[in-house]
Amino acid sequence: MSRPRRAFDIRLRDEFRRRLLESRETLLRAVKATDEEIAELETPGPGDSVDRAAGSSVAALVSRLAGQDKEQLDEIAAALRRLGSGAYGKCVSCREPIALARLRAVPATRLCLSCQTAEEVTP
Ligand SMILES: [Zn+2]
Repeated sequence: MSRPRRAFDIRLRDEFRRRLLESRETLLRAVKATDEEIAELETPGPGDSVDRAAGSSVAALVSRLAGQDKEQLDEIAAALRRLGSGAYGKCVSCREPIALARLRAVPATRLCLSCQTAEEVTP
């Protein structure tokens, strides 16, 4: 009795689950560090003569970074769901298997290299 093969065997799934969890942890640590930086930036000094323009551009930068982090966290969560459902490792656009080397480089990716390139070229 042989069951149909999945795109990924158990060992690969374990490997990528570990990779995804690790990158999520790294991201969460990075977000925490950013929170501390925000708190530091927002602490008013005595006799503060705040340069308002500089202050708001720092805040804008920090919020943009936080948005990217959040996007990456969403990507990782989605990749973990695909790993659980057996859909991991396939391009969501063309349904072709994504090269293992690419998955190792970018574990949360949902597109193969050619679809990713096409998406970057076409806005
Ligand atoms: Zn593709």
